[in-house]
Amino acid sequence: MSDRSRNIAILGSTGSIGRGTLDVIAASDERLRVVGLAANSRLAELCDQARQFQPNWIVASNRNHASAFDWAVKPANTELLLGSEGIASLVSRPEVDIVVAAIVGSAGLTGTWAAVEAGKTVALANKETLVMAGPQVMQLAQERGAKILPVDSEHSAVFQAMATGRRRDVKRIILTASGGPFRQHTPAQLAQVSVDEALAHPTWEMGPKITVDSATMMNKALEIIEARWLFDLEPDQIDVVVHPQSIVHSLVEFRDGSVLAQLSPPDMRLPIQYALTHPERWDCPTPKLDLASAMRLDFEPPDLDRFPAIGLGYEVARVGGTAGAVLNAANEAAVAGFLGGQLSFTEIVPACRSVLDNHHFEASPTLERLIELDIWARQEVTRWVCI
Ligand code: NAD
Ligand code: MG
Repeated sequence: MSDRSRNIAILGSTGSIGRGTLDVIAASDERLRVVGLAANSRLAELCDQARQFQPNWIVASNRNHASAFDWAVKPANTELLLGSEGIASLVSRPEVDIVVAAIVGSAGLTGTWAAVEAGKTVALANKETLVMAGPQVMQLAQERGAKILPVDSEHSAVFQAMATGRRRDVKRIILTASGGPFRQHTPAQLAQVSVDEALAHPTWEMGPKITVDSATMMNKALEIIEARWLFDLEPDQIDVVVHPQSIVHSLVEFRDGSVLAQLSPPDMRLPIQYALTHPERWDCPTPKLDLASAMRLDFEPPDLDRFPAIGLGYEVARVGGTAGAVLNAANEAAVAGFLGGQLSFTEIVPACRSVLDNHHFEASPTLERLIELDIWARQEVTRWVCI
C-alpha cells in the first residue's frame, strides 16, 4: 500500500472526527486520498468537502434530508449514493483501502459492520460499535481478515504502547480520563449543571454526544468496554485514572512492572493520522509536546460515587452479552433527553441503570437481537422520562 496513495472513505465526514480526518488528509502530500464521504444532515457542508477533495462518491445517509436538498452544488464527477445501502455500497468498493468509522452512536454500527465484512482496514472512532457488539465485530474481523485500528485517543495510546512488548506480557492497561468539566463538583452542584456547562469540555473539542459522555464519565465506561473487546482483556486488567491535562493518553503495564505511555498535546488528528498511516509514522500537523515549558501532569483516582457511570462500565464489560447494546442505547437516549431539556444531568446514569436492570439478559445474542434491544432501550428511556 505504501507505493501509492491510500484511499480513504470517511463515514461521518461533517463531524468533529470527520473534519479532523480531512485536515490530516489535506496535509498528507497526496499520500492519502479521499474516495468517499458520508454524512447525515449537513449536506451543504458535505458538498463543500466534496468540491475540495473530489471524492468518487458521497453518501447522504438520511433520504428525507437528501430529497429536500438542492444537489446543484455537488461536483459533477462525484456520484451521490443514498441511505444505509449507500454507506454499505461505498465501504465495500474495491477502490477503498481504509474506512474511517466516525458516525456518532449506534447509527455507526451498520457501516462499520459492512466495512469489516468487506475485509477493509477500519480506523475506528465509533466506539459504540464495540460497546454494542464487540465480540461479534471482532470475530467478523478475524474471519474476513479486516484490521480494526483505534482512533479513540486512549486506545490508540494503548495500541502504540502494547507494540513495545509481547502481548502475553501485558499485565494491565490504564486508561486516562480528563475528568470532564465537573471533576471537582459536589453532588449538589452536579444536580444543577446546565446543558451549556456540560458542553464546555476543558481539554477536548468534540461532538455534543461524546462531550456530555465525558461530563458524566460515561465516555470512560464506554471506553472500558471498547478496550475489553478490542484488546481481548479481562475487565480487571483495565484501570482508569483521572489525568486533567489530557497529555498522557493511556498506559500499559507489562509483567515486569514497566509502564509504557503515549504522550502528546490533546489533538485527535494525531491518533486519526496514526490509524491511517499505520505501521508508518509521518509528520503530523498537530502541536508538539514541550516539556521545557512549565507544565504539570497530575493523576488521581476517579470518584466512583460522584461518577457512577464507571461502575456501570465495569459491570457491563464483565457480563457482556446484550448488556453493552442496552447500556449504549439507553445512554444515547438519556443524553438526547438531557440536551433536549427533559432530563437533568444527574438523571442520565440512573436512567441507564434502570433500563439495564430491566432488560432480559442474553449471553450470546445475534446482531439482529442487539439492534432490536437498541430500539427497545430507547423506548424504555422515553418511558422513564415520562414517569
Ligand atoms: P459529531 O457529532 O461531531 O459528528 C457525527 C457525524 O456522524 C456527523 O458527520 C453526522 O453527519 C454523522 N451522523 C450522525 N448521525 C448519523 C446517522 N444516523 N447516520 C449517518 N451518519 C450520522 O461526532 P464526533 O465527536 O465526531 O464523534 C464521532 C464518533 O467518534 C463517536 O462515536 C465518538 O464517540 C467518537 N470519538 C470522537 C472523539 C472526538 O474527539 N470528537 C474522540 C474519540 C472518539
Ligand atoms: Mg477517548
